[in-house]
Amino acid sequence: MEFEYSDKVQQLLQKLRDFMDEHVYPAEETYHRQLQEDRWGEPPIMAELKKKAQQAELWNLFLPDNRFGAGLTNLEYAPLAEEMGRVLFSSEIFNCSAPDTGNMEVLAQYGSEAQQQQWLTPLLAGEIRSAFAMTEPKVASSDATNIETSIVRDGDDYVINGHKFYISGLMNKRCKIMIVMGKTDPDNPNRHQQQSQILVPTDTPGVKIRRPMTVFGYDDAPEGHAEVIFDNVRVAAENLILGEGRGFEIAQGRLGPGRIHHCMRLIGGAQRALENMAKRAEQRVVFGRPMSKQGSVREDIARSACEIEQARLLTLKAAAQMDQYGNKAARDLIAMIKIVAPQMACTVIDRAIQVHGAAGLSQDLHLAGHYTYARTIRLADGPDQVHMMQLGRNLAARYGAVG
Ligand SMILES: Cc1cc2nc3c(=O)[nH]c(=O)nc-3n(C[C@H](O)[C@H](O)[C@H](O)COP(=O)(O)OP(=O)(O)OC[C@H]3O[C@@H](n4cnc5c(N)ncnc54)[C@H](O)[C@@H]3O)c2cc1C
Repeated sequence: MEFEYSDKVQQLLQKLRDFMDEHVYPAEETYHRQLQEDRWGEPPIMAELKKKAQQAELWNLFLPDNRFGAGLTNLEYAPLAEEMGRVLFSSEIFNCSAPDTGNMEVLAQYGSEAQQQQWLTPLLAGEIRSAFAMTEPKVASSDATNIETSIVRDGDDYVINGHKFYISGLMNKRCKIMIVMGKTDPDNPNRHQQQSQILVPTDTPGVKIRRPMTVFGYDDAPEGHAEVIFDNVRVAAENLILGEGRGFEIAQGRLGPGRIHHCMRLIGGAQRALENMAKRAEQRVVFGRPMSKQGSVREDIARSACEIEQARLLTLKAAAQMDQYGNKAARDLIAMIKIVAPQMACTVIDRAIQVHGAAGLSQDLHLAGHYTYARTIRLADGPDQVHMMQLGRNLAARYGAVG
């Protein structure tokens, strides 16, 4: 495996770093202040930054399909996503934020021409935002076969009834479209062919947002995570993606890139935490000498650097396998990084919080927000245990079959 980034990637990375230094870090305070004025709107600074990113051609970098995006491989995108991950809101500036990225991938890969025209085009242009609605409060949604929302054909329409929660992005005023997962054929003996995915404009009658859910008390504005009821929601039959019974297949296709993108961003968040931990340890004097002279603090810094680098290399290996052999063939490595990277980020950021004392938990630093994000990803896009269950099963079968 090649460990050096190509010239093309190094140039892009430098351009991105310059952009972050010049425009994004200086905007952090303004962004959070403007957000206080309109929790679910787009802060004006975000619109300005998006324009600048488009002008700099730092746009849609996540999409390997060069008909629609930058055409970078996963391996090429990894260091760029890591860089964006250093500031929680920055992926959106480059139109590279979840869940829009996953939804754009689904539409690019599985959408009809009409669906692409109506929804993919404005999403790629950053004109609207989107959500993906699968999880339900009443069933264990880490096993998607449990989903109970019904999607019933009625003439030229489908009618949707169900109850979902933690639907990221749906609180945002600019969120215009949702991809909803539900069952069109609940009695199919093949549990993986019961589900379908369907496009639901957020202003369709019967879409009733109950409340924003919080994470450790954070509302995660301006995207938010909505609890939502689908009460006889009627959409045209053409809104179904790919066909009845194909929902599980689409979900599997979507989750590989989505998972690795989260890991890349988390490595960036952990790297920034490490740098700030080292800075603080050098500058803060405790019991007569800088913290960095304390053995336990040095150990925290050293261990954090080792763990970040391990996760980074594993992520790059997974990305390289996805590029070379496809997402399905890379599933074990994707599971490994999804187990390793969020836990690593939680541990590293927790150490950085400790070294910062009370300030580490405050609104003045990025650490509390990044910790919350890392902890969330231990659940979202598949809890740790589900990935371990699948990885353990695959490895047992592979090695168990030998000799
Ligand atoms: C901030 C946030 C944002 C989210 N955004 C979205 C979104 O945009 N769209 C969406 O659809 N969903 C979203 N989710 C939901 C998330 O994907 C689900 O919470 C996750 O899939 C787990 O489902 P569940 O909550 O129903 O947990 P359950 O399925 O009830 O699982 C609970 C726990 O059971 C344990 N478990 C499961 N399987 C095993 C096993 N085999 N062995 C041992 N233990 C096991 C795990 O520890 C797991 O955490 C979000 C969640 C959060 C917190």
